[in-house]
Amino acid sequence: MNTHTINPHTIATRSKRAKRLDARNFTRTHCAANLTRGVPCGTPLHSRFVDGQTVPFCPQCDRKRRGVCVRCTTERVAGTVGLAIYCVACKRLANAEAMARHRVAHADDRKARDDARRADPAKRTDRAEYNRLYRLSRPRKVRELAHVDYTRHRDTRLAYFAAYRAEKREQLNAARRRRYHGDLPERACVSCPMVLTGRAKRCGPCVQAIRTAARAAIAARLADGPASDNPCVFGTHDA
Ligand SMILES: [Zn+2]
Ligand SMILES: [Zn+2]
Ligand SMILES: [Zn+2]
Repeated sequence: MNTHTINPHTIATRSKRAKRLDARNFTRTHCAANLTRGVPCGTPLHSRFVDGQTVPFCPQCDRKRRGVCVRCTTERVAGTVGLAIYCVACKRLANAEAMARHRVAHADDRKARDDARRADPAKRTDRAEYNRLYRLSRPRKVRELAHVDYTRHRDTRLAYFAAYRAEKREQLNAARRRRYHGDLPERACVSCPMVLTGRAKRCGPCVQAIRTAARAAIAARLADGPASDNPCVFGTHDA
């Protein structure tokens, strides 16, 4: 007799383990077996007739036992028959999903780590210096990345600008209507309590004071001589 033709999980040779599991599932509606470590099967149980009595039958555990992927239920599992549960493609998908779940579950840890790194001034300076040198050394790559960024976010940004303009337009129209009807509320100058009419944000004297101060600051700076001799980051031009 050729022993290779015998299925070790036929009714006659069912293992003690399988019988124990049947006993556990006897009073349940969903499978109690472990599909993999830490993951219960939980599949709704069917029943079948064995040795003169009706016993629970789990189609998913049966697939695992036969080495059929429990996810697509058609492909052969990648790994040991009886232990592995996914085919090559489903395994990859399941891994990607597990990593996504992990990212969500540990988002706080990750944020704390990232924040700590950003808060470290030494690392920050280091990073900034590296980025600066990278941009200088790979101008074409930088242009490519800028283009990728442009194409990727183009529609979102255009939509944002359009919405912003529409909102501003509505605000201006509302103000125009109120001005026409003469019920525009009184507004104070943003720098002093003087009441204004029209569109100006500041009163004339405040605008004049700001301009005078700015001119004085510039004059003081020029009087100190050249602000700084910034070395050109690209090196000397005649080199
Ligand atoms: Zn099961
Ligand atoms: Zn599969
Ligand atoms: Zn003012």
